Amino acid sequence: MRFETRVIHAGQEPDETTGALVPPTHPAAAFVRESVDQPREFRYARSGSPTRAALESALACLENGTHSYAFGSGMAAVTAAAQLLRAGDHCLISDDVYGNTYRLFTEILPAYQVSCGFADFTDLDRTRAAIRPDTRMIWIESPTNPHMKVVDLAALAEIGRAHEALTVVDNSFCSPFFQCPLDFGVDVVVESTTKYLNGHDDLMGGAAITRDGSLAERLAAIQYVMGAIPSAFDCWLLLRGLRTLHVRMERHHDNGLAIAGWLEAHPKVVGVHHPGLASHPQHALAERQQGGYSGMLAFDVRGGRQAAKAVAEGTHLFALAAGLGGVESLIAYPYAMSHASQVGSTLSPGEGLLRLSVGIEHIDDLIADLDQALARA
Ligand code: PLP
Repeated sequence: MRFETRVIHAGQEPDETTGALVPPTHPAAAFVRESVDQPREFRYARSGSPTRAALESALACLENGTHSYAFGSGMAAVTAAAQLLRAGDHCLISDDVYGNTYRLFTEILPAYQVSCGFADFTDLDRTRAAIRPDTRMIWIESPTNPHMKVVDLAALAEIGRAHEALTVVDNSFCSPFFQCPLDFGVDVVVESTTKYLNGHDDLMGGAAITRDGSLAERLAAIQYVMGAIPSAFDCWLLLRGLRTLHVRMERHHDNGLAIAGWLEAHPKVVGVHHPGLASHPQHALAERQQGGYSGMLAFDVRGGRQAAKAVAEGTHLFALAAGLGGVESLIAYPYAMSHASQVGSTLSPGEGLLRLSVGIEHIDDLIADLDQALARA
């Protein structure tokens, strides 16, 4: 079945006992056994529940995986995938990466003897050179947050295999509608389902998906034992958001591209980072690798920090908020918000950089809002 059909039907069969068209929410923490030796399919909600099972089967199907594990936030899913590493392992990370993934690897995991390094994955030779004998994981974002660099997923999966390093892709910027990293041979895909998959900025969630049975067993144990699971209500809400993913993504694609093109011609804008623009350094790769573009883009304002802050604080429709991927348009200042922890390092975003999560409002209203805000820069 095509994506547009799977997104509505996968894991969402009518309820067998009542005939209810949409899956019910099962908030139960515990499930009664037949007898001591005979548990039913579900035993205790941390190990699995009907609502979460429906969501996990939908997500596995949409990401072209076989096993999927839902978590209470994107960072819980990122952490679960990172826990596939052991003491003494090294992780090579994209040099442009979400701020809290950066913090996890630089502030939290070193206490568990997991080390990390960074490389520009758009340069495959430099990436190969940065691999160490103890590198057991390559952590990838594509497009990266916030500079929207696009990396060759198949080539990185190959590098990972050659060095016995797992490859993990954070797919939160694209969603499976535009990119299924598992199809390029990577081992694990993680999603902040808070973002496009839910699409309504009203829940926190994450997921880790794989086709590898032994990784799946380890992720299942991490999910069950560490316990960072989503509530049944959030699983149900996410299933509800998911059903319109394809329709939303098409509008995000159109609006994002239109705004990127408009910004590129604006005199107060120095550069626009959107892989759909012909001027983007990895445009040809992005066209090959992605089925389209989300509403994510970044741009540099002439005038640095002061000008960027004036624009960020001057929009009316674009809300000044750190999230992304929802139907509402958001504007963010990575230097002081999502990427503040990188400031002072070589990975710091520039002081004039603004990030947009372009929503699905009318394009003319969005452009008018940016126009009046840029007039303040
Ligand atoms: N990955 C990326 C690329 C993100 O941008 C974010 C959050 O902004 C996360 C992971 C973390 O997701 P969550 O906020 O759901 O924990």
